[in-house]
Amino acid sequence: MAHEAAGRLYVVATPIGNLGDLSPRARAVLSDCALVAAEDTRHTGVLLKAFGIQTPQLSLHDHNEKQRASDIIQRLRQGDSVALVSDAGTPAISDPGFELVRAVAAAGFEIIAIPGPCAAIAALSIGALPTDRFCFDGFLPARGAARRKRLQSLATEARTLVLYEAPHRVRETLEDCAAVFGDERSAAVSREITKMHEMTYRGSLRELLARAGADADFGRGEIVLLIAGAPQQIASVARGADGHGGALDRVLKILLTELPLKQAARLAAQITEARDNEAYKRALHLKQEFASHS
Ligand code: SAM
Repeated sequence: MAHEAAGRLYVVATPIGNLGDLSPRARAVLSDCALVAAEDTRHTGVLLKAFGIQTPQLSLHDHNEKQRASDIIQRLRQGDSVALVSDAGTPAISDPGFELVRAVAAAGFEIIAIPGPCAAIAALSIGALPTDRFCFDGFLPARGAARRKRLQSLATEARTLVLYEAPHRVRETLEDCAAVFGDERSAAVSREITKMHEMTYRGSLRELLARAGADADFGRGEIVLLIAGAPQQIASVARGADGHGGALDRVLKILLTELPLKQAARLAAQITEARDNEAYKRALHLKQEFASHS
């Protein structure tokens, strides 16, 4: 039950580049509430100033979110409404906010969404990859080995994968994606959505890597990466794995029809979590079996 006469927490999405995307409702809430809790008060100060909004701000970032939550709950109890914003887009989506929202919900206050821009959803809406089911994985680990391990854990994911990526890492990440998912997997890279240099590149991972090598602008600005889900055959074979032997052979039989032996063995090992040398040996065996039957 929400407290009577208590304030509300408004979770307010702000533009990801184009100020025209601040909704009239967001503007009204930012003007009318008692306090704006902002990831970076200087950054949000620019936005508030652009709209002539003079609401006082309080900083709320990853390192003080838990402490700030109790201060904000105190304000709500006194009847003040508070707006939560991040630097850009929707708070709590790869941004601070989750801890506050959880604490405010647990304390029984009302939480209202003021929806608007979100880079992940904007990229999905224009990526030309399936949108009926998708899986958002935020930022991959920055270090190579950890990043590849995360990608391997996603190798059989059938839903479209949505990732945020830093511009200076996008090429390396595409290379890792090609190594783990196979370079024929469809993907899209959207950069600078809603800004002057907005651009979306679409194609296979191989084509996108070629583009990254040829186009100096490819890795500039803010980037969302979309990767098509695993082909249904791979995803379902991996799901129905009846031990390495059965699953490994079934995955290899599919991959060997499309890929060279080494690549098929490497991918099959990642998909079924078999050892590389075991997958390679089975691949050789199956290839010889195919040859003797044809
Ligand atoms: N909360 C934000 C949202 O709702 O989109 C995301 C915050 S996260 C810290 C910032 C990342 O979002 C960037 O590194 C980039 O991957 C992505 N991003 C933000 N704005 C973008 C834009 N205009 N174009 C493309 N990607 C963007």
